[in-house]
Amino acid sequence: MKEKLINIKDNFLENLKKAKNDVELKELETNTIWKTGILNDILKWLKDLWAEEKKEIWIEANNLKNFILEKLEEKKLELETLNYSKIEQEEKIDVTLEFPSKDKWHLHPLSITSKLLEDIFISLGFKIEDGPQIEKEEYNFDKLNIPDNHPARDVWDTFWLSDEINKDKAPWEKLLLRTHTSPVQVRTMLSQELPLKIIVPGRVFRFEQEDARHTCNFYQLEWLVVGKWVTFWDLKWTLDTVMKKLLWDDTVLRFRPSIFPFTEPSAEIDVQCKLCQGKWCRMCSWSGWVELLWAWMVHPKVLADCWVDPEIYSGFAFWMWIDRIASQRFSVSSSRLFYQSKLKLNEQF
Ligand SMILES: [Zn+2]
Repeated sequence: MKEKLINIKDNFLENLKKAKNDVELKELETNTIWKTGILNDILKWLKDLWAEEKKEIWIEANNLKNFILEKLEEKKLELETLNYSKIEQEEKIDVTLEFPSKDKWHLHPLSITSKLLEDIFISLGFKIEDGPQIEKEEYNFDKLNIPDNHPARDVWDTFWLSDEINKDKAPWEKLLLRTHTSPVQVRTMLSQELPLKIIVPGRVFRFEQEDARHTCNFYQLEWLVVGKWVTFWDLKWTLDTVMKKLLWDDTVLRFRPSIFPFTEPSAEIDVQCKLCQGKWCRMCSWSGWVELLWAWMVHPKVLADCWVDPEIYSGFAFWMWIDRIASQRFSVSSSRLFYQSKLKLNEQF
């Protein structure tokens, strides 16, 4: 019996030397000491021995078990240390290395597009406005003629802040991640003198099913003009001028009548897909056209809610997807690629 114990020990030590990782160690442990292990078999045979011998073997077997557990633990530590030093060797970071030169830097395609848009609008006399990404329900919906229970609220699947934060707030004061940049229209009309010519570039959030054109957060650019005698003609002229400066001289636009609760009248504007030259591709959902923006005359109720007299003043506004403009401009087939931090993509621009 004692010989058997010595054999077990020798075999164990030999296999321990060969073990290269945690999985192999675990296997060795199971095969040696636990229920299915050979040491356990010895304990089963003990019942056939004389009392004196039984005690002796039991003690020895137990000692061996402890020895094995100890050795396994040692080996585990040894492998761990080895692994760390290997990582250290392979992934060495030298913090004293020179900082990459400036020509290695790349602006993100969305930043490039946003800057380009800002330059165009500034040249047309617009001012840039900004607003918070966490917005009040009142500014995101109510004051834009989208009261509670209005079916239009379903169009924007909204990310609300947690109940814990919103529980003590009045219904219109509840906080959400803004679903569009339009709350800044409200903020500006409430706080600034007329006439207004502003653009609002910014990040917005929606609980979207992600695909080539939709992501849960994306960048929008909104522009708003409010003044006396502002008409739909002004809207079309501005849009045509901006799109030709932004995309290409022969840009083909398509106006489709549409309806939004905060607008009167309104249109959805598509641009002929540059990626496939109006034929079909994934970016344009196989239609040849990409919906780039929404344009509208501001609804009189929205003006009135912001203390602007709709009998004297009128206005128009647009919003566009910066992501989709960037996709068109740089021929990138899916907006999702912009959010994946891929240097290979960014370095091309
Ligand atoms: Zn296309």
